[in-house]
Amino acid sequence: MGCRFGNDGSVSKRITILGATGSVGRSTVALIDAAPAGAFVVVALTANRDVAALAALALRLRPELTVVAEAESGPALRDALAGSGLRHGAGAEALHEAASLAADWTMAAIVGAAGLRPTLAALAQGRIVALANKEALVCAGDVMLAAAAASGATLLPVDSEHNAIFQALQGHGLDSVEKIVLTASGGPCRLMDDAALAAVTPAQAVNHPVWSMGAKISVDSATMMNKGLEVIEAARLFGLPLHRIEVLVHPQSAVHGLVQFTDGSMLAQLGSPDMRTPIAHCLAWPRRMVADVPRLDLAALARLDFFAPDTKRFPALRLAREALSAGGGAPTILNAANEVAVDAFLGGRLSFLGIADLVARVLDRLGAPPVADLDEVFALDAVARRQADGVLAAA
Ligand code: NAD
Ligand code: MG
Repeated sequence: MGCRFGNDGSVSKRITILGATGSVGRSTVALIDAAPAGAFVVVALTANRDVAALAALALRLRPELTVVAEAESGPALRDALAGSGLRHGAGAEALHEAASLAADWTMAAIVGAAGLRPTLAALAQGRIVALANKEALVCAGDVMLAAAAASGATLLPVDSEHNAIFQALQGHGLDSVEKIVLTASGGPCRLMDDAALAAVTPAQAVNHPVWSMGAKISVDSATMMNKGLEVIEAARLFGLPLHRIEVLVHPQSAVHGLVQFTDGSMLAQLGSPDMRTPIAHCLAWPRRMVADVPRLDLAALARLDFFAPDTKRFPALRLAREALSAGGGAPTILNAANEVAVDAFLGGRLSFLGIADLVARVLDRLGAPPVADLDEVFALDAVARRQADGVLAAA
């Protein structure tokens, strides 16, 4: 691997950011900006179609390759980078190339199952992949874990809850773990009654009380589908069965995850609700780096509340648990239907409560067919999206 050396003789880490213009992508860039000169060399940056933001990042960070996934945005990227000498590309093949360029560390921060192929390409390098893109793991868990095992890649959890649990698990075998606990802020709709929930608008749903995130995950947080996806993500990452994965609503979002051990000890990771902390943990792993995030002021916080989730008002969490226990392609269907539903909700074509309802209907229709390989995963993902579109059209 072609490592370069910084001014102080330290080795530079060659890094790629897939989804560089998003919320997680920008937090990753902020950490690189704040790091000592020469600590990181940027190999590739990608985005979907936000050419202006991507070009601005590329001109500053000077990656070897800059890619927009949407082929039609290629000419705009070419114009924006004209005269810079920077190599650029557009479309699925270019995205694959960006994910495949030799890098020590890749941030997988594309949103949705669209991130699956590039994340697999990054895993094929056999290096470190920091995984934010939970939908890819929910959609194709076995395929992704097999790809990581085959290449010897290390998958590090970026999602704050999973990163917390990963930290708490250090030095312990799974045989000493009774259960893990994912915390959930409860989102912007936590205290709403049924009538208010029925009338939630996209603007309300994306207005998260604690975390600042992209639109899709913000809506998922409001429905609690995000926590459902995270239960599936945790089962895959940590190899634990459903009954050993618990969810607790914790509105302060100070405790991100906990591990209950067999001797009665519970270890938790705490921190400000700021993604730069789990990203920094992954960037420096297995060491630690400096991250200038607000420190948690426990005295100011004064109390930490925990509640059992209400799966009657927020059925998405129950649906995700059911999909995981049904096994086979059920999580693939759940994720695809949810992506269609969230898109329709953000576009004003579906009500807030209609999101979980649509996912439930598609799961009812398609069941849990087996999925043996990546082709079958993509085929089932497409079938589930068509079913969801059909339910939407009939509504
Ligand atoms: P975002 O919407 O802010 O950014 C998504 C990024 O992916 C953008 O760069 C966008 O251009 C790119 N993208 C979107 N669609 C694409 C496509 N079809 N092909 C290629 N690129 C595409 O999202 P985000 O909030 O940064 O979340 C990214 C991922 O990280 C999601 O899977 C999310 O669940 C996960 N995550 C986010 C947070 C957070 O705090 N934002 C926390 C934990 C996990
Ligand atoms: Mg999370």
